[in-house]
Amino acid sequence: MSDIIQLLPDHVANQIAAGEVVQRPASVVKELLENSIDAGALEIKLILKEAGKTLVQVIDDGKGMSVTDARLSFERHATSKIRSAEDLFKLNTKGFRGEALASIAAIAHVELKTKQENDELGTCIVIEGSEVKSQNVVVTPKGTSVSVKNLFFNIPARRNFLKSNTVELRHVTDEFHRVALAHPNIAFSMFHNGGEQFSLPATNYRQRVVNIFGTKTNEKLVPVEEATEVLTVSGFVGKPEFSKKTKSEQFFFVNNRFVKSPYLNHAINAAFEGLLKDGYHPTYFLNLTVDPQTIDINIHPTKTEIKFDDEHTLYAILRSSVKHSLGQFNIAPVLDFDSDANLDTPYNYKNKSGKTPTITVDSSFNPFASSGAAPQKQNYNRQLKTQAHWESLYVGLESKSNDALNNFDEVTFESEAKTESIFKSSEVSPEKTTYQLRQKYIVSTIKSGMLIIDQNRAHQRILYENLLKQLTSKEATTQQLLFPLNISFSTSDIAIIKQLQSDLEFAGFQFSDVKDESVIITGVPVGVPESEVTIVLEQLISDVENDVPDQNFSASDLLAKSMAKSLSIKTGQSLNADEQEHILNSLFACKEPSVSPTNKTTFITLGVDDIEKKFM
Ligand code: ADP
Ligand code: MG
Repeated sequence: MSDIIQLLPDHVANQIAAGEVVQRPASVVKELLENSIDAGALEIKLILKEAGKTLVQVIDDGKGMSVTDARLSFERHATSKIRSAEDLFKLNTKGFRGEALASIAAIAHVELKTKQENDELGTCIVIEGSEVKSQNVVVTPKGTSVSVKNLFFNIPARRNFLKSNTVELRHVTDEFHRVALAHPNIAFSMFHNGGEQFSLPATNYRQRVVNIFGTKTNEKLVPVEEATEVLTVSGFVGKPEFSKKTKSEQFFFVNNRFVKSPYLNHAINAAFEGLLKDGYHPTYFLNLTVDPQTIDINIHPTKTEIKFDDEHTLYAILRSSVKHSLGQFNIAPVLDFDSDANLDTPYNYKNKSGKTPTITVDSSFNPFASSGAAPQKQNYNRQLKTQAHWESLYVGLESKSNDALNNFDEVTFESEAKTESIFKSSEVSPEKTTYQLRQKYIVSTIKSGMLIIDQNRAHQRILYENLLKQLTSKEATTQQLLFPLNISFSTSDIAIIKQLQSDLEFAGFQFSDVKDESVIITGVPVGVPESEVTIVLEQLISDVENDVPDQNFSASDLLAKSMAKSLSIKTGQSLNADEQEHILNSLFACKEPSVSPTNKTTFITLGVDDIEKKFM
C-alpha cells in the first residue's frame, strides 16, 4: 500500500491552532493587547464593534516592526521572543509561542499597519483566511495597529457558537481589566460601537484599581506588602464588609500575568476565615513576583493556569501576609484585652440588619396541667402575630388559585376527616397537618403516604411563578420609598443594571437616576423589603455574570429567578404552622410545583407501601 501520511497545508494547520488560541473575540483582545505590551507600548487603544464580532482593533505606540518582521509575524511559530528552549524558563514577555497572529489571520480578515520609530514609512499587510491579499507601504504613526474583522468568517459553526453581544462584551471587558490591572503604568482606553467605555491614564496600582472598579473602591482597599526570598506580594485585599457575592473582583497576577489559581485563592479565603458572611467572597488584587525559573506557565494554551515549584511555601506566605494586613489595619479582630469587645466583633455584620436572638419562654406552660394541649394553643396564637410580617413577603405576589389545588391530581391531600387521636383531648385545635423537619423540610401527610417539601426550593418556585407573571403582564406594583436609596456599584455592574433596567422597572423598581457608579432607587416592588434591595440587585448581577446567559435568555426570566432566590425563605428558618401550610398550598397552586426554578426537586413523596416495607 502506498504511503498515506501528509503534512497539513499551513492554512489548515493554522486553523487548527486557531481553535486552541481563539475561542471568542475576547481571546483576540487578549493576544493583541499582550503583543502591544511586549512591544513596549505606553499607550494602547482597543476599539470594538459588536462586542468584537465584527471588529477588534488594537492600536499601540510600541516599537513597531520592520517590513520583513511584519510579514513574518503571521507565520506560525514565528516569534521574536524566544530563541532557544532555555528561554522558556526566563520569560518576561506575555507571548512566546508565535502562534497568535498566525491563528487569528487564519480565521478572520486582518489588517496590520506598523512602523518603527526611525523609519519614514510603515508597512500595511492585509490577510484573509491565511492568504496575503496585499502588502503596501503606508504612512502611519510609530507603533502598530492590528484590526481583526469578521471573526470566524470562514468557520460558520464557530461563529454561530458565539454568545450574545452582551455576553461577549463581558468577556472582552474581563480580559481588558486583567491586562489593564497588570500594567498600571500603561495608558489604556476602550471603545465599543463608537462609545468610550474606559479611559485609564497611566498611574499607580491603587489608582488603576479605582479607575476600573469605581471611586467607591478606594475606601475598600487594604494594602498588602510582603517581600521574602521566594515571593514578593503586593497589592490590595478588600475589607471584609465589602466582600461580594461574586468572584468578579478576584485577581492574581504572577509576574504581571493574570492567572487563575484555585490553590492560592484558597490561601486568601483562609486568611479571611471568620470574617466573611456565608456565600460572600473576598475581593483581592494581588501581584506576586517570583523567579521565572520557578514557574511553568506553559501548561495551558491560553496561559491563565500556572504551575509553581513550591506551592506550599507560596500558600503559607500569601495567607500570612494577607492575614497580617487585615490585622494591621484592624480589620480582623485582634486580641486586645483593653478594648471593648462590643466594638470589635460586629465588624462584618455592619451591613447586616440587626437580628436579636430571642429565647421564647412560654410562661403559661404548666407541665402539671392536665391538658397538654393548652400550651400548644398559646404557641399558635403567638405565631399568628408574626404572621403579618411574614405575609408581607407575599403582598402582591399572592396567588389566587387555591382551586388549582384541585387540578393537581398527583398528590391528593388527606381528607379532613379526623382520625381519633390516642391522646384524646378536646382542645386540640386547629389541627396541625404539617411539621417542620430540621428547619429545612415541611412534612405533611397525603392520602398515599407522606409528603416532604424542601422549604427553600418550594418558596423559590412560588415566588418565581408569581414574579414571572408580574413581569410578563407588566402589572407589578411599586412601593414608593420615603427616602431614595443610593446604592454604589462598579462600572461593570452598572452596565448590567442598565441592560436590565426596563425589566427591573416592569418588576416594580423605579430608578430616578442611573449614574456611572451608583443608582438612585425611588421605588421597589411591593414585597421586596427595603433592606433587601441591595442584596436582590447584587444577586441579580452575580447571576447575570455567572450564568453566562446565551442569546435567547430572557431578562424577565432571569430576574424572576434571581429575585426568587434572594427573597425566598432559606434553610434554617423556622416556620410556624401557618407559614408551613401557606408554602404547601401555594406550591401546589403553581404550574410546575415539582421543581424549583433551577430545576431541583421541590418535594418527594413516601408511599405507605414504602413505609410499610421498612417495617417488615
Ligand atoms: P508571540 O507574541 O508569541 O511572539 P504572535 O503571533 O503574537 O507571537 O506575534 C508574533 C511576533 O510579531 C511577535 O513575536 C512580535 O515580534 C511581532 N508583533 C506582534 N504584535 C506586535 C506589536 N503590536 N508590535 C510589535 N511587534 C509585534
Ligand atoms: Mg503574542
